[in-house]
Amino acid sequence: VRTQASDIEISRGQTPKAVDVLAREIGLLTDEIEIYGKSKAKVRLSVLERLTGQADGKYVLVAGITPTPLGEGKSTVTIGLVQALTAHLKVNSFACLRQPSQGPTFGVKGGAAGGGYAQVIPMEEFNLHLTGDIHAITAANNLLAAAIDTRILHENTQTDKVRERVLIAIWGFLSWRDLCKRLVKLGIHKTDPSTLTEEEMSRFARLNIDPSTITWQRVLDTNDRFLRKITIGQANTEKGFSRQAQFDIAVASEIMAVLALTDSLTDMKERLGRMVVASDKNGQPVTAEDLGVTGALTVLMKDAIKPNLMQTLEGTPVFVHAGPFANIAHGNSSVLADKIALKLVGEEGFVVTEAGFGADIGMEKFFNIKCRASGLVPSVVVLVATVRALKMHGGGPSVIAGVPLKKEYTEENIQLVADGCCNLQKQIQIAQLFGVPVVVALNVFKTDTRAEIDLVCELAKRAGAFNAVPCYHWSVGGKGSVDLAQAVREAANKRSRFQFLYDVQLPIVEKIRTIAQAVYGAKDIELSPEAQSKIDRYTQQGFGNLPICMAKTHLSLSHQPDQKGVPRGFILPVSDVRASIGAGFIYPLVGTMSTMPGLPTRPCFYDIDLDPETEQVQGLF
Ligand code: ADP
Repeated sequence: VRTQASDIEISRGQTPKAVDVLAREIGLLTDEIEIYGKSKAKVRLSVLERLTGQADGKYVLVAGITPTPLGEGKSTVTIGLVQALTAHLKVNSFACLRQPSQGPTFGVKGGAAGGGYAQVIPMEEFNLHLTGDIHAITAANNLLAAAIDTRILHENTQTDKVRERVLIAIWGFLSWRDLCKRLVKLGIHKTDPSTLTEEEMSRFARLNIDPSTITWQRVLDTNDRFLRKITIGQANTEKGFSRQAQFDIAVASEIMAVLALTDSLTDMKERLGRMVVASDKNGQPVTAEDLGVTGALTVLMKDAIKPNLMQTLEGTPVFVHAGPFANIAHGNSSVLADKIALKLVGEEGFVVTEAGFGADIGMEKFFNIKCRASGLVPSVVVLVATVRALKMHGGGPSVIAGVPLKKEYTEENIQLVADGCCNLQKQIQIAQLFGVPVVVALNVFKTDTRAEIDLVCELAKRAGAFNAVPCYHWSVGGKGSVDLAQAVREAANKRSRFQFLYDVQLPIVEKIRTIAQAVYGAKDIELSPEAQSKIDRYTQQGFGNLPICMAKTHLSLSHQPDQKGVPRGFILPVSDVRASIGAGFIYPLVGTMSTMPGLPTRPCFYDIDLDPETEQVQGLF
């Protein structure tokens, strides 16, 4: 049996064209790109103004069935599909992908540049620092974290009391409003007090943050389990202002979700300012704007907002931009990259973007959160399935990362495939709730047999898919996905009757129940007292009309990862509810969610090395 070269060998085997050549090919002007090295460029948002009159191309979402822990090839299908569309069918197309976190790259999952002959290149640049967007997010996030604790310290220490005494002395001669005006003039405060109510003014000098309510955490883009719980402020200089805190992985930061959902610099600035970090001692929300840090955060993020241009192995364009966590955030790449790509491909072209996890999570959030924010209307859903995952849903043994697959997965087993197709059928039905046609892409592995492949395609069509086709891009590149590209093109000619699943004006509980019942198939939901009281608080604070971003395991349609296939009759337990006001969603937690992954016993970093002679990276996949 011929064994295929490793992903990094395949990636290195192809020299990417210079990124300025690629930019010219896709119609970007010289002053619309900022080049980083030889094969990456940032694209300025001014291109949107220039192309304002241009009609958008077709918008395609790649989602998947409930996966095994190994991933079923959504990124690989996304890239194979654009390679087939552009390089083989000669239709303009663009892939829009998430930037991966370095946590999984050095941890257990490896990179996310696709695989085999369907990859973004150079894959080491894709998987490592790219153009520094995640570093910018880390810097911005941690500046805000520092602002919170420093503010608490200063508001409660001696120097502040002295300053307050001075203020009170001046106050003797000035009204409160005049005093505030002078402070603004002197640059000490940013907000013009004439726009403030009396109550807001009383918070002007003091935020009175209640430290026990702080929800803003520090972040780092490394899987470091020892930072899950930390104690900060232990030096004498912090005068006893010590508290328990935590680090999250950088991609779980709200700023990452803001980057993914924003559509302009002005909008990003407003969203950053709206981010709620804690409550004050009266239970009122404290925002980044209250801390006077909005401007600085925007400055740190000013380059990160520009999408990053790269290319596939077959030289077709790719945007890599934003990578919000798919559980506590919405797991989709940026709105801006999609909007720019839709203009660049032109009316007859295609933009293919990918949603994280199974369709019950990533696709549901793509429609209800991302499309609601962007106003874009999707034309087609490509639902990725593998024989391997279907066999698992049909009752096959557990699939565990790093452990060789059992014979059920390497030999033909029609019964397991037939039984497992229930999960595929259910995910097709979920996509249909949104009125968008579904094409099933069966990502073929070399152990799949003809009978297994035919059965999946047949059952998918019977379940209402517009079409279902096997694809072979992993082993042969774009030409292995021409059937998929043709099926997507035909489906896109059908009129999409896209609709949201719920009205955002519904009460928070009703929105959660709708997702649990219509998407996951739950009988009902059960709220913990904590979840109920948070819902009451957010509703009373005026945040009740935001969309919902469920944080649930991706390994099952239910909340229990070991429940495969289509679990029925379960009650979905909501343990807590949190809010990302700047990003613009409420996120209920179903079970416990780790926002800081750990490293496994055998992490990927064991294999990663650099050859000093050639400066080539080894061991990435
Ligand atoms: P997802 O985006 O769904 O998480 P990926 O596209 O990242 O999945 O693929 C996960 C892994 O599986 C990658 O390492 C990829 O190279 C590998 N892979 C994908 N498709 C195939 C295939 N048809 N045959 C063999 N390996 C594959």
